[in-house]
Amino acid sequence: MIPSLMPTYGERNLAFERGEGAYLFGSDGRRYLDFGGGIAVVGLGHAHPHLVQALKAQAEKLWHTSNLFRIPGQEKAGQRLVENTFADTVFFCNSGAEAIECGLKLVRKHHSHNGAPEKYRVITLEGSFHGRTLATIAAGGQAKLTQGFGPVVDGFDHVPYGNFNALKGAITKETAAVLLEPIQGEGGIRPLEPDYLREVRAVCDEFGLLLFLDEIQSGMGRTGKLFAHEWAEIKPDVVAIAKSLGGGFPVGACLATEKAAAGMTAGTHGSTFGGNPLAMSAVNAVLDLMLADGFMEHVIEIGDVLRRKVQGVASRYPKVLAEVRGLGLMLGMKAVGTNTDMVKALQENGLLTVPAGDNIVRLLPPLIIERSHVDEAVEIIDRTCGSLAEAS
Ligand SMILES: *Cc1c(COP(=O)(O)O)cnc(C)c1O
Repeated sequence: MIPSLMPTYGERNLAFERGEGAYLFGSDGRRYLDFGGGIAVVGLGHAHPHLVQALKAQAEKLWHTSNLFRIPGQEKAGQRLVENTFADTVFFCNSGAEAIECGLKLVRKHHSHNGAPEKYRVITLEGSFHGRTLATIAAGGQAKLTQGFGPVVDGFDHVPYGNFNALKGAITKETAAVLLEPIQGEGGIRPLEPDYLREVRAVCDEFGLLLFLDEIQSGMGRTGKLFAHEWAEIKPDVVAIAKSLGGGFPVGACLATEKAAAGMTAGTHGSTFGGNPLAMSAVNAVLDLMLADGFMEHVIEIGDVLRRKVQGVASRYPKVLAEVRGLGLMLGMKAVGTNTDMVKALQENGLLTVPAGDNIVRLLPPLIIERSHVDEAVEIIDRTCGSLAEAS
């Protein structure tokens, strides 16, 4: 008999009652250090007083009006994102996949608006993940996403990860854009070289393509910059964000330049829930904290400490950990055994992490963690590696 919850997720045994900062309190009575952050969503930790206060205050006033009316909180959040990024304009939606969908529609509209409707194809990278809707599984392209959901939405050309010549060679008269994650998340914390990103930017300019970045996981401070592409000092045309944007409130956004968004006029796109007052109170509260002096410096500094210490563990247990990689607080530990076994063992020892492709165990802690959290996590990773080394 099918369970009352559609069984699309694996077996889940643990539930939580409460969260506080970097900690989650399980209904098993145990306290867990949360270095999964609900898959890079809880950027400011659980129950951050500023977020709680903002959401409570808004909840007592007004939840939803629809986009038939002006939403002051949305105007404020949009203005702040424009002021602090490459973007001139923002569309708010409710999830990452929706943010990508908006960007894909924008890319097609851009070229048809400019008299080149034949340009509709998007080049994406192998191993990428862009969401679970029909178009975004086609963009990701991996068989495990598209299997059984055919016919696959047309318009995507996949090229090997990080190979610039392959990408350039895939450009045709029909190419509209290049879509990529500056650091592949689900694919296994695989950062693209800054030089590669700069080359892709240049080739997009040469061929009149839009550069569309998926910063749903790598954005919102995760790498110590508001967006990971800032490390390569490039300016994209379109960026999709979500995950940490609402600190746990479901919200996404598609950011674009004025030029890229040409054609996105009244009636071309919309969302019933997108950017509602409740969601915008969360986003504005997140921005209050992330845009404050010193926030990003802290992420860079603490990310460095975490990375160095985990690398230390990896060098002590080369038979358990093959590699540590990533940027800021978007780190991956490559397991020698299976990553899921390691995630389970870490959980048993009180540390929550997230598995990813390429046998990676992801560390995606709240961006507000302190040295004490790093020390505690590293102690658990060290101990867990010790017992895994003995068992192997
Ligand atoms: C999580 C994620 C998505 C999909 O976001 P949803 O909110 O689950 O739709 C897309 N791209 C990347 C890089 C992600 O990490």
